[in-house]
Amino acid sequence: MRSVCVLTSGGDSQGMNAALRGVARASLSAGVKVFAVWDGYKGLVEGVMSELSWLDCSNMVAAGGTKYGTARCAQFRTEEGRRAAVVNLVKANAGALVVIGGDGSLTGASILASEWDDHVQKAVANGELPQDFAAAAELHVVGLVGSIDNDMFGTHFTIGCVSALHRIVEAVDAIRATAASHSRTFVVEVMGRNCGWLALMAGLATQADFVFIPESPPSPCTSTSVPTVSTTTGELLESWAATLVAKLARVEGKRWSVVIVSEGAHDCKMEPITAARIKEVIEAELGHDTRITKLGHVQRGGKPAAFDRYMSTNLGIAAFDALAGYAAAGPPAPEPVYFGCSDASVYPVALHPAVAATRNVHDLVAAGKYDDAMVA
Ligand code: ADP
Repeated sequence: MRSVCVLTSGGDSQGMNAALRGVARASLSAGVKVFAVWDGYKGLVEGVMSELSWLDCSNMVAAGGTKYGTARCAQFRTEEGRRAAVVNLVKANAGALVVIGGDGSLTGASILASEWDDHVQKAVANGELPQDFAAAAELHVVGLVGSIDNDMFGTHFTIGCVSALHRIVEAVDAIRATAASHSRTFVVEVMGRNCGWLALMAGLATQADFVFIPESPPSPCTSTSVPTVSTTTGELLESWAATLVAKLARVEGKRWSVVIVSEGAHDCKMEPITAARIKEVIEAELGHDTRITKLGHVQRGGKPAAFDRYMSTNLGIAAFDALAGYAAAGPPAPEPVYFGCSDASVYPVALHPAVAATRNVHDLVAAGKYDDAMVA
């Protein structure tokens, strides 16, 4: 089997190191050369890669981030950039590429695979590759979903999401303590792009009082179920604000609250529901002393949780096994294949009824169980 190139790309996520190590150690065990490409597609375009030895992959599963770097690479979005990547892969005698990254990185991997033959031919015509060198070139592409957002359809856990969730829960626990001490309300902004999984799961795990996620924009814009007139303007509040106020005010004597807002949350007019907007509403309508905490990059930093370490290791090994299978089957190269964690056995047998029938945020919202599950 020709050599394997492996890279981490896009936003870093805890467990990328374990995934890369899984690919590398499985390759080396099978006697196959393996190269780590530095800084994602940037290293591929610029031809910066290191051959890995067994010891290069020692002592790395517990480390956060990604040892071989990641970057956002504008050049790879261009045909010229991808041609340079193809030339570097052929020169490294790579028969396989493993991309560990989010949806953007995997989209890039698919495009590279679909353009491969074209780029090889053009590179030969341009004299960038010798004819005989390129003749045997064929590339198998495998992707592993690395994203703290848990936003990949068809998989239950993406690499890093569990660790990020742990980090958020730790932070919110700390915030609850100070919120209770000072009788303050905190609005905590968490990551997730367009996916509310982190916010929703953190809300359940920390007994948050209210959670805003992108999947559940309040509709209609003006509340009918909980009509609330603004105490400051006298006008009817927007639906999300009226619901929030009603929920936070319903427990008599409660002097503090925690609200979690996903960075992608928006209202029915697609205007972002930001931590600042939420703070304004709470202060104006309820008079709570309200603070904002944006957790930011602390969510993707730090050590991976045990689950991310072992899941990612297994995914890395699965990636190599697939590549070995393709290599044994011979040409033509199949479409790129992406592996995600889809193991139903990780779910406990008895679940809260609100989440028992669900697998993800969309299901929870679609089943009309979001409110039951979320509001403390
Ligand atoms: P993520 O993989 O975490 O979603 P990005 O969306 O930033 O992160 O993508 C990472 C890199 O993948 C980009 O910097 C770019 O090099 C490459 N990429 C993303 N989308 C495309 C695309 N449509 N075509 C080619 N390359 C892409």
